[in-house]
Amino acid sequence: MKIAFFNAKTYDRNSFKAANEHHQHEIIFFESHLSYETVSLAAGFAAICIFINDYLNAEMLETLAKGGTKLIALRSAGFNHVDLVAAAKFDMAIVRVPAYSPYAVAEHAIALVLSLNRKIHRAYNRVREGNFSIEGLLGFDLHGATVGVIGTGRIGAIFAQIMHGFGCKLIGYDIYQNPTCLAMGMEYMQISELFAMSDIISLHCPLTPDSHYLINAEAIAKIKTGAMLINTSRGGLIDTQAAINGLKSGAIGYLGIDVYEQEADLFFEDLSNEVIQDDTFQRLLTFPNVIVTGHQAFFTSHALANIAETTLANITEFEQGGNCVNEVKIENAIATK
Ligand code: NAD
Repeated sequence: MKIAFFNAKTYDRNSFKAANEHHQHEIIFFESHLSYETVSLAAGFAAICIFINDYLNAEMLETLAKGGTKLIALRSAGFNHVDLVAAAKFDMAIVRVPAYSPYAVAEHAIALVLSLNRKIHRAYNRVREGNFSIEGLLGFDLHGATVGVIGTGRIGAIFAQIMHGFGCKLIGYDIYQNPTCLAMGMEYMQISELFAMSDIISLHCPLTPDSHYLINAEAIAKIKTGAMLINTSRGGLIDTQAAINGLKSGAIGYLGIDVYEQEADLFFEDLSNEVIQDDTFQRLLTFPNVIVTGHQAFFTSHALANIAETTLANITEFEQGGNCVNEVKIENAIATK
């Protein structure tokens, strides 16, 4: 199938070229994001392949449909960046990669927990400057800490399993109770109870209209004073300004985020020679007890290989007229922003 591949980075080209050796699709890589300015590049391509920071609204979908595009292949699990209702209206199929390496994301969440707790980001800089003072680097034992997992699906369950290995007490909040988590002794409870009891709260639920700003001023008022908050899920789960207020008051003791609600304007690009205009984001970076990574939780060689293989297999299935197991159905439209 002829595929217009948007937002292509070097690592994407490498993993997709390797996986395409046995799929034999015709892939044209474009460095640019999919946007109003670039959508015309897709004219004549039956399939397009996009990432989470390529937003597709009704107007752009209409342009794609007019150009002959029939399939949107998301090289991500999340699909909140595509207007599913409009895609159905224009008779376009959407396929995704539901799980490429839940270990990658869970392990990154753990990296944030450990780094924040033991202040690795600060120790790294100190030692390089010949400052071997350990004042201010005091951590706490994870063993015995209470860890609240919000969203106990694939990634949340692996995160819970690793924390269980550290000897943490597991509590959870989800619409469904995961038997794997129950078997580890996780106790499910109301979210307000979880806020009050957790020393560490980690978010692993999707962004939906229900979960938007799940962590807002009201929630922050309920969390155990000084708790650690980790978000490797989606930026919109946290009201960033409320989190900043919580950090200033000490209500939040540590914040580790791999996702940010306005990340589309920042992440995945080298902006080191530019003045960042987002004052909220810049304020976050001033706190010693905050670590921000730029949506890299998924970024392992295993995950890239899985993303490429599943995406191309999805396209092959679509081309062969079969029902693609990874198709995002209109029922999922509730999950769009
Ligand atoms: P999953 O579907 O296996 O699990 C999500 C869980 O969240 C489910 O158990 C579901 O019942 C629960 N849930 C849904 N709405 C909820 C709500 N309002 N409150 C509490 N729980 C709710 O998904 P997953 O594979 O574990 O992925 C979790 C999230 O991780 C994804 O939605 C995605 O946003 C994020 N993610 C981030 C990266 C990254 O690189 N940072 C990579 C992949 C996925």
